[in-house]
Amino acid sequence: MNRRHFLNRLTKGTALAGLVCGGPRLLEPPGLAAESSPPAGRLKITKVKAILTSPGRIRLCVVKVETSEPGLYGLGCATFTQRIRTVATAVDQYLAPFLAGKNPDHIEDLWQSMYQSSYWRNGPVLMNALSGVDAALWDIKAKRAGLPLYQLLGGKCRTAVPIYRHASGNSLEAVADSVLKIMAEGCRHIRVQLGLRGNSNYGAGGGGSPSPGSDHFQGDLFDPGAYRRSVPKLFDYLRQKVGDEVQLLHDIHERLAPIDAIGLAKELERYRLFFLEDPLAPEDAGYFKLLRQQCATPIAMGELFNNPNEWLELVSGRLIDFIRCHLSQVGGVSAARKIAALCDFFRVRTAWHGPGDTSPVGHAAQVHLNLATWNFGIQECTLFNDTVKEVFPGTPEVKNGLMLCNEQPGLGIDLDEKLAAKFPVKDEPPFDLQWGRLRGWDGTIQRP
Ligand SMILES: [Mg+2]
Repeated sequence: MNRRHFLNRLTKGTALAGLVCGGPRLLEPPGLAAESSPPAGRLKITKVKAILTSPGRIRLCVVKVETSEPGLYGLGCATFTQRIRTVATAVDQYLAPFLAGKNPDHIEDLWQSMYQSSYWRNGPVLMNALSGVDAALWDIKAKRAGLPLYQLLGGKCRTAVPIYRHASGNSLEAVADSVLKIMAEGCRHIRVQLGLRGNSNYGAGGGGSPSPGSDHFQGDLFDPGAYRRSVPKLFDYLRQKVGDEVQLLHDIHERLAPIDAIGLAKELERYRLFFLEDPLAPEDAGYFKLLRQQCATPIAMGELFNNPNEWLELVSGRLIDFIRCHLSQVGGVSAARKIAALCDFFRVRTAWHGPGDTSPVGHAAQVHLNLATWNFGIQECTLFNDTVKEVFPGTPEVKNGLMLCNEQPGLGIDLDEKLAAKFPVKDEPPFDLQWGRLRGWDGTIQRP
C-alpha cells in the first residue's frame, strides 16, 4: 500500500481526508466544532443567570444554568461578597450570551472557552463568574448520570468530611469555654481567636477606634505587637485547660510583618497546631522559604489565591502543608480537582475556604470534592441558620464534627428562588464595608 492509499484509508469519511490528500479543505475535526450548529434534540444551555440573596448576614451569589431538557438545571457558587454585583454583571451580561446554545456536557472545553473569552484572565470577578458556571455544569452532568457528584470525581475515600469550627472570645477563659462547648458537640478541630479590648483582632471582634494620632481617619484599630504577644499566651492557656487531644488552629490573616509572622510561628511550634493559617500575604510569598527553615508549625495558605502562579511554587517547593483556596476564586470544581491532584504529589492536603461567604451551594460542592480527594485535610465549616437552609434545601448537615453528604444526584442541593427573593442583598454595612478600615495607631491602613 503506498502512502496516498494508506492516508485515504486512514481518513476515509472524515474531514481530514481533504487536507492530507492535498484538497483545498481546511482541517475540520469532528466533534466540538461540529456542535457549533447543534442538531435538533441535543442538550443545550438555554439560560444562565446570577441569583443574589442574603438569607443570613452575608450576601451570596449563585449561578443557575438551565438546559433544553425540562427541569434539568445546575447550581454553582459565585460568591465574592465584597463586590457581588460585579460578579452578577459578569454572569448576566457576558457569560450568559457566550454560553447560550452550547452543550453543557463539555465542561472542560467550556471552562477553557470562558477563561479565554475575556482575553484578560483571572481576577476575582471573572473567576467567580466562571466558577459558578463550572460547578453548575458538574451539577447538571451528575444529575444526568443519576449519581451524586462524588461518584463522578472517583468515588468516596472516606465516609464523611471532618470539619473545623471557630472558637473566639474576649478573654482567655471565654475562648476556652467556647472550645470546650464545641468539643462537647463532637468536633475535633477548632480554630481559636482571641479578642483584645480596644484592638480589632481578626476573628474575635474587639473593635476600638484608631488612636488620637489618627483622628482624621475612620476605622478600627489594630496593634500588631499586642496581637502577637497575645497568641502564645492563648495557646499556653488552652493546652492547660482543654488538653492535648483537640486539634487547635489559628489564623494570622496576613496581619503581621513577615519577620513577626515567622517569629510567631516559631513560638507556637511547641503547642502543636493542626495548622497556622495565612501567616503571610500572597504578596509576601517569598518569605515562605524562610518560614519553613525556622520551624515545623504546619502552614495553611491560599484563600486569597486567584492565579495559578500564586500556588505553584508554594506547593511544588513543599513550603505549605494545606491549600485553602476559595473555590469560586480559582475556577470552581474543575480547578479544585486539578489543584488537589497537584497537591497530592507533594503531600499537601486540602482545606478549602469555608466561611459564611461560601454559599451552601459552594459547601455542597466542597463536600463532594472532600469525599473523593485522598489528600483531603480538613474542611472549614459554617453552621447555617434555619432560614438559609430553607432557601437552600439540601444544605449539608453537620454532626459530631463531620459534614455529611446526601445521596441525591448532582450536588444534592437546590435553591428556592421565590424564598431567596425575600432576602434581597443590601449595599450597606456592616459586612461589606468592614474591609479596608483597619488602621494602626498612627492611622496607617493595615491588611484586613
Ligand atoms: Mg482565613
